[in-house]
Amino acid sequence: MPMSVAKIEELVRASGGRVTPGRRAVIDALLQSDNWLTADDMLVAVRSAWPRANEAAVYRALESLEQLGVICHTHLGHTASYWHLATDPRQSLVCEGCGRVVLVPAAWLEALHRRIRDELDFVVAPDHFAWSGFCNRCISPQRPDCVQARSMS
Ligand SMILES: [Zn+2]
Ligand SMILES: [Zn+2]
Repeated sequence: MPMSVAKIEELVRASGGRVTPGRRAVIDALLQSDNWLTADDMLVAVRSAWPRANEAAVYRALESLEQLGVICHTHLGHTASYWHLATDPRQSLVCEGCGRVVLVPAAWLEALHRRIRDELDFVVAPDHFAWSGFCNRCISPQRPDCVQARSMS
């Protein structure tokens, strides 16, 4: 479900946080982006709304919003973490061949997560780590660098 800025700001306040210009710029950037963003992406995205932003300030805003439960980070492998709204907890897939990222619709895994919780007493955090594998382009036999990928399958 898409969130509005007002709704998210309400959430920040309900968790005891203040809506600073920096935090608002970060929330806006995430709402406006179709993709999840790294801290570097974020610095670029907030620059017009938050002219005094720098790397440290962006990190502080990201970490404080995460503590307030509004946003989360995802590890996509050996790269920087990606940030997204807490209301968008999708499983990410990352291709080990080309780095392509695919987001799985949350509903696809609901039944599996429920079964894991009920039968194995474990609550999955689907958006903390990506699943790694190979996209169809990288697994194609026409590509010489795919020998490894095919031998792993
Ligand atoms: Zn690939
Ligand atoms: Zn983490």
